[in-house]
Amino acid sequence: MNPYTIFSDIVAGRAPASKVYEDDDVLAFMDIRPWTPGHLLVIPKVAAASLAELDPEIGGKLFQVGQRIALALRQSEVACDGVNFFLADGIAAGQEVFHVHLHVIPRTSGDGFGLRGRPVNAHRADLDYLASSVRRVLAEGDR
Ligand code: AMP
Repeated sequence: MNPYTIFSDIVAGRAPASKVYEDDDVLAFMDIRPWTPGHLLVIPKVAAASLAELDPEIGGKLFQVGQRIALALRQSEVACDGVNFFLADGIAAGQEVFHVHLHVIPRTSGDGFGLRGRPVNAHRADLDYLASSVRRVLAEGDR
């Protein structure tokens, strides 16, 4: 997949961004269409369209930076009593920009943001079956 997106321009400094954090591997900046005020994105500097293409070490750094920012948000002037992380990997998941990014979404009670309502409890047998399937694939990856 073509690795070029607007985020490459932001990393290169060719497009504007309201940056909040930058190091050798990771950049964080405000989302231009925020779900809540203070919503920002944490991205790898090296373009990766999907999680499959992302170096796992950099993936770990995305979370570490997201974690730091989540703590900082609570002490900033952003209204923030809680935080959601969200990452869309693939069209079916709602991904629109094909450069991996972790959404960090400040939350306040009653802000209206939300995914779907919680479904009813699943059957244990279904949970066990799917868990064993994912465990099997993880174990194969360790070999
Ligand atoms: P996603 O649906 O997870 O791919 O989300 C892409 C996100 O990127 C959306 O929340 C957009 O508002 C955001 N976005 C797109 N272009 C820019 C930009 N130039 N600067 C900041 N955020 C952007």
